[in-house]
Order: sequence, then structure tokens, then C-alpha cells
Amino acid sequence: MTPRSAQAFEAGDYTASLQALAALKAPVDAFFDGVMVNADDPKLRANRLGLLARLHGAMNRVADLSRWPPAEPMPSTQHAMKLVILDRDGTINEDRDDYVKSPEEWQPIPGALEAIARLNHNGWHTVVATNQSGIGRGLFDMATLNAMHLKMHQLLAVHGGRIDAVFFCPHVTEDRCDCRKPQPGLFHQIGERFGLELDAVPVVGDTLRDLQAGVSAGCEPHLVRTGKAAPDRMNDAQIAELVAQVPGTRVHATLDDFAEWLVARERAQKPASARSDE
Ligand SMILES: [Mg+2]
Repeated sequence: MTPRSAQAFEAGDYTASLQALAALKAPVDAFFDGVMVNADDPKLRANRLGLLARLHGAMNRVADLSRWPPAEPMPSTQHAMKLVILDRDGTINEDRDDYVKSPEEWQPIPGALEAIARLNHNGWHTVVATNQSGIGRGLFDMATLNAMHLKMHQLLAVHGGRIDAVFFCPHVTEDRCDCRKPQPGLFHQIGERFGLELDAVPVVGDTLRDLQAGVSAGCEPHLVRTGKAAPDRMNDAQIAELVAQVPGTRVHATLDDFAEWLVARERAQKPASARSDE
């Protein structure tokens, strides 16, 4: 390395260091072009190539990022992934008192798939956490559950959306598992799978137990007034009573309204510099 290049390197100005090295190539070439009267002289050729190789090596050493420890620890990526955890029945698809037992019975709530796609298009990953005790009760089997979810994924794909994963609890209450909501087991599985702390990860559902499970795992609770919390099934007083049990809960008419709210909040939180292209 030349003094000028080394000086710039010491000062941390790696661009200047590289430029100082790169500037040497032309004089090296000019010198050898001038003296290489006999182009076949193997010694001269070796000298020229040797000098250029050393120059190349010095530039590589300057440019080798792997040799430089970062001045400060890399920022934590723990919260970098934008994730929303969704309940399924009554939140994405129409609920049924006799359980959703087949792909035919799995019918999306109008606007719900569009809402998921909208979240995705704004950079949010979406996963589903759902109690499916119909398996434990013998109402349907795993193949049927998979077929329902295949239908969900396919219908969502039409809108350009994607659910990254479906976490389900197949148990009944008597199994005393830790994954049937309101237990937070599914949420802990999600945190482990994605390597995330669930602090402030939004959870959206239509029942108290969705919110309780999410909040137990640190999530931010959102109730949608579809499914079991639809206006024809719960009046405002009942909703207020539910919300009082999970402080901090925000209520939205539909999943679509939730998506609109979340995207708007994020936009409002972004610094103006990040929004200059809007
Ligand atoms: Mg539900």
C-alpha cells in the first residue's frame, strides 16, 4: 500500500484509499509501455504483471469488508419483520356454529382476503393462529384441514396475498394443552418459528380468547366485529364488556378496516424523509 493510500485507510476513508491505489495503474502501465521496447522480454513482462498483481492485491485488501469489524454493534433485527397474527374462523372466513368442516364450508368474509393482500403489499407478513378442535372432536381429519387451507391460500393468491404459515391447535379443552387459545402456546410457536419477540405484534380476532392468548404473548390486541363479534351477535354493551377484559384492545368493523388502520398508522409514524416519494 502506498503512503497516500495507507493514510486514507487509517483515517477510515476507504474510498480515497481505493482511489489512491487505482490511480497507480495508469503510471505503471505508462512506465512499462515506455520501457518495453522489446515486448518479448520475459523479465520486463514479469515485472509489469507482478506490480499490477500487487496493486490488485492491495485494492482487494482495502475493499475486503469482512476484515473490518463494525464500529458499532449491528442494530437488532428482532423487530425488523413486520408480522400480523390472524385468527381464522370469524376473522378471515365465515364462522359456523357447527364448525367449518370442509373446503366447501370455508367461505371468505367479503373483503378479508383483499385486506390480507393489502397488508402483504405494505410489507406485513401474515400468519394464522387458529383453534381447530374439530380435529380433536373427530369432525374432520388433517387431510380436510389441509384442503381448507389450500383453498384459503389459493383464493388469497388471486389477490396477490400470502399467508406465511398456519399454526393450529387440534385439541379439545379436556386435553389441557397449552396451545388452545386463550392459552398462548400457538403464539410462542410463532415467535420461535420466526425468531421474533412478539412485543407489539398485532393480533386480530373475533373472540375474547384470541385477544387473551395474544396479549399473554405480548401482542397488541385488535377485535374485528365479524364472526362471533358481529353486530347481530354482540351488541355494543357486550363488546365494551369484552374489551374491558383486555385493556388496550382496538375495535374494527372488519379485517379490511384493521388493515387500513394499520397501514395508516405506519405511514403517520414514518419520518417525512421516508415519505418524500409519496
Ligand atoms: Mg374466531
